[in-house]
Amino acid sequence: MIDSHCHLDPSTYGGDEGVDAVVARAVAAGVTHMLSVGSGYGFDSAARAVAVARRHANVRASVGLHPHDAKDFTDARFADLLDMSQLPEVLALGEMGLDFHYDSSPRDTQRAVFRAQLREARRRQVPVIIHDRESGGETLRILDDESAWDTGVLFHCYTGNLAMMEQIVARGGWISIPGIVTFETAGEMAEVAARVPDDRLLVETDAPFLTPVPHRGKKNEPAYVAHTLAKVAALRGRPVAEMESLTVANTRRFFRWASS
Ligand SMILES: [Zn+2]
Ligand SMILES: [Zn+2]
Repeated sequence: MIDSHCHLDPSTYGGDEGVDAVVARAVAAGVTHMLSVGSGYGFDSAARAVAVARRHANVRASVGLHPHDAKDFTDARFADLLDMSQLPEVLALGEMGLDFHYDSSPRDTQRAVFRAQLREARRRQVPVIIHDRESGGETLRILDDESAWDTGVLFHCYTGNLAMMEQIVARGGWISIPGIVTFETAGEMAEVAARVPDDRLLVETDAPFLTPVPHRGKKNEPAYVAHTLAKVAALRGRPVAEMESLTVANTRRFFRWASS
């Protein structure tokens, strides 16, 4: 299995030793690779994700400016981020997008920082990881407006409805299903997880939050992506092993992640 989206931040897991233990438990659970997202835990989370990827050949990183942190954008920080995005350990830009639920940054700042990252991703032909919460479809409109779809667009922790999933897929986008699908309250998400086309489906933990059943109450970690995968397989009426190889292949294709 691959966890396509987690935050292996030493500040969350008790330092480097804590992260090493999390990675070891993931491998023991059959999660051979993980993508650690350096965005959303303050501007410095990008450099921390890169450092973890440097120490673990089976961990790759992305770097980006989360809408929560968009208010801290400066030209110098953006230049640093773009330099990091060229490193061999870094496979994508993001997560980036709009979050009108928390509104941790002013909306106009969120929009501007999102667009700036999309333009650089297009210029560099780097895939992007999208965070979208309660934007009322504006994230899609900005992606259209910036002609962003060709470089590869992944909606992570997808909790939108079926109609929007279909619009994303029709534009060539990809969908990653989080552990929320294991919750009794999953609702329409269960239907989405059943219906994302085979060639656009990924799974993730978004660790350290959103721990799947049956580990609710514990800190989330990549090992638990197995529960999300099993639930997705059950919802689709397919063998887990088949869904495992399919989601691994999709994750490698989306991130252009060479085997190692
Ligand atoms: Zn997110
Ligand atoms: Zn995340």
